[in-house]
Parts: sequence; C-alpha cells; structure tokens
Amino acid sequence: MTDPREHVARYLWGREVLDEPEYFLAGDRGELLKTLRVGPGAASAASGGPPGLGQLSRSGSREEILAIEDMETLGQVAGACTRCSLHQTRTKVVFADGTAAARVLCVGEAPGANEDRTGVPFVGRAGQLLDRLLVSVGFPRSEVFICNVLKCRPPGNRNPLPEEIEKCSPFMLRQVELVSPAVIIAFGTFAAQTLIGTKDSLRHLRGRTHVYEGFPLVATYHPAALLRNPGWTRPSWLDLQLARRIADGDHAPRTLRSEDERQVPEAGEAPQPAQPPPDQLSFGGRDV
Ligand code: SF4
Repeated sequence: MTDPREHVARYLWGREVLDEPEYFLAGDRGELLKTLRVGPGAASAASGGPPGLGQLSRSGSREEILAIEDMETLGQVAGACTRCSLHQTRTKVVFADGTAAARVLCVGEAPGANEDRTGVPFVGRAGQLLDRLLVSVGFPRSEVFICNVLKCRPPGNRNPLPEEIEKCSPFMLRQVELVSPAVIIAFGTFAAQTLIGTKDSLRHLRGRTHVYEGFPLVATYHPAALLRNPGWTRPSWLDLQLARRIADGDHAPRTLRSEDERQVPEAGEAPQPAQPPPDQLSFGGRDV
C-alpha cells in the first residue's frame, strides 16, 4: 500500500496545480511538500517489504502490484500477466519505453498492431510524429517515459472494455508512482477520459491542467489523429508547451486557450484550415 503521507502530499500538490491554494495549511508549503514526499520504497518497508516476483499470487493481485518497488519487477509481472482476457490474443505485452527517472510521462490508449508485434509503445508514423512533437518542446524521447493505459492490444484495435481497464489499472498507477513525473501527458480521448475520470470530450479537456493521483496532467490529441487532421497540430503543440511549463515549475492557470484554439473541432467534425505549425515542426502531419 502507498504511504498515506504520499497521498497527502499528492492531494496538496493537486490543489496547488488547480490554483486552489486555500487548501494549504499555514506554513511554507514547499517545505511541507518536501517533508511529506517519500520514496516509493518507504511504504513497502513500513509494511514489511514488497513481495518478490516468485511470491506473487497468480499474475499478482492489485495490492501486490501496487507494492512492487521497482520498474523492472513491475515489467516482469506485467509481462506474465493473465489478469484479463487480452492475454489470450496478445503477441507481446507492451509495458513501456523510457526511463523511470523521466520528468515527463506520456500515456496513450492501448497497443496497436505494430506495438503488439514489437512490444514498444508509440512506434510507426504516429510514434515518429510524437517524437518530433516532444523534441519541439524540449522533451527528447530518451528523457520521457511512454506507456499505455492497457498493456495488451485489444483484438482488431477495438475500444478497451471497462473490465480490461479495471484489471490493468494497477500497472498504470504503479508506473506513475514509480516515475513520479513532474507532468503527465495523456494522448487521445480515451487516455484523457480514463485518467481524468470523465466523459467530457477532448475538446474541453485539452488546453488546461488536470490531476491524476496527485500529479499534474495535460490532455491533447493522439499523434495518429494529427496524421489524419494536420490542422490539430498547432493546438497539440500548445498543449505540449503547457506541459513544458508545468515541468519547469510554472504552474499555469486552469485555462490557457486562446480565441482561435476554441475553434478546434471535435473528432469527426471537419477540421479547421490547417494553421502553420511552429517553424521547428516541418512535418505538417503528412510525411512522417
Ligand atoms: S491488458 Fe493488462 S490486465 Fe490484461 S492481460 Fe494485459 S497486462 Fe494483464
């Protein structure tokens, strides 16, 4: 179980990110957060230590997964997971790509065919576009942690089922806890809605700061959607800029949308005429 002090720290951090400082207690909130922050192993040590891989029950219970104290073991447990029926149809478990020391954690929906084949998230044209978007705001892929809500591919790329999300959620949660990122970026409607816990459209979720388990979260379009709708590239780049500012410690206000950004259409609507992307993004969603 996670140390209760960490829950309190995340709660306070979340209030700060959402511009609700009235929730803070008297005193230096920076010092308070520093005092409350505990390492991922502290709770386990207090409760007698996490289970070793060989001690886990079949595929690991939620509690056992949340007690795993390093990313390598978590990946091994996910790699053998049979907690939901997707294990029957997957080729490879797509656990994550990147370093657990990352300050930015990127989350997509679920593996596609290429990911299922390679075991690596965000590969192919959409992955290349993601890489270039991240680099454009100073987040090279080698310095971020990338994963999906679901670790196994739903057959035919169908939408994940609620029970699959529920079964897989401890892996996602523990990944976030172990990375302890400065900011989370949710790519696509499904990832954003799942992590934020809402059915609101991405159009209304993007452009502002949310909180997942105490960590600041920014939602934006999935790179695959940008390939289909190049006009969404600039709003997506602005979302990544917001994430950059959060990672840099600049707590932005809830809403940062400019007048033109409000015109960004929903998925399925006719996109607005493409706006010129920033100079450093020359792909325009066409050749990657
Ligand atoms: S999707 Fe998640 S819960 Fe289901 S088998 Fe794969 S790793 Fe396990």
